[in-house]
Amino acid sequence: MGECIFCKIAAGEIPAKKCFEDDQVVAFHDIHPLRPTHLLVIPRKHIASLAHVGAEDEPVLGRMLAVAQKLAVEHGSDDGFRCIINTGRVGGQEVSHLHLHILGGPEPVGPMVTKI
Ligand code: AMP
Ligand code: ZN
Repeated sequence: MGECIFCKIAAGEIPAKKCFEDDQVVAFHDIHPLRPTHLLVIPRKHIASLAHVGAEDEPVLGRMLAVAQKLAVEHGSDDGFRCIINTGRVGGQEVSHLHLHILGGPEPVGPMVTKI
């Protein structure tokens, strides 16, 4: 997946403000944060979207959520946070590499259908 920007971030080929990485996932700050905390968690493996996961990907999906919980706590979201996975055209997905948004900060994030 030579042209995938998130594969390049995972590989360290283009810069990002990373806040976590292990053998399965990488997390970094969204380049255009919409809330005081706006992080992205991605699998190292190129998976185009949540609509493209297979049974073999179930462990990494769990890891993404576990890392999201850890990072939200570390970034001060004691009072809650929101996780979103935009998927495909209808879901408003712009980057075709599966990613989980973590949104948080002191104030409520807002209506669930807000484009993020
Ligand atoms: P989505 O609409 O769910 O596909 O969101 C893609 C997100 O990736 C957007 O919030 C962008 O701001 C973010 N993004 C795009 N390029 C980069 C990058 N190079 N580093 C960090 N975040 C990025
Ligand atoms: Zn990719």
